[in-house]
Amino acid sequence: MKVPVVNQDECSGCGLCADIAPNTFELNADDVSEVIDPQGDDEDTIQEAIDSCPVECISWEEK
Ligand code: SF4
Repeated sequence: MKVPVVNQDECSGCGLCADIAPNTFELNADDVSEVIDPQGDDEDTIQEAIDSCPVECISWEEK
């Protein structure tokens, strides 16, 4: 199964991924994106969030 992973060291906290795929990503208490449910949104929506990340810090990983 492929799951989205956020490199939190690179995340700028812009919130875009959480706007696009709110059931998958959420800004945490440190204002960086966290995966709350790797299958929270459909794959196309998660892909759109990945493609929209300005610092390109979200990627797919095989789990
Ligand atoms: S879009 Fe990228 S930089 Fe913005 S909050 Fe999400 S992971 Fe962080």
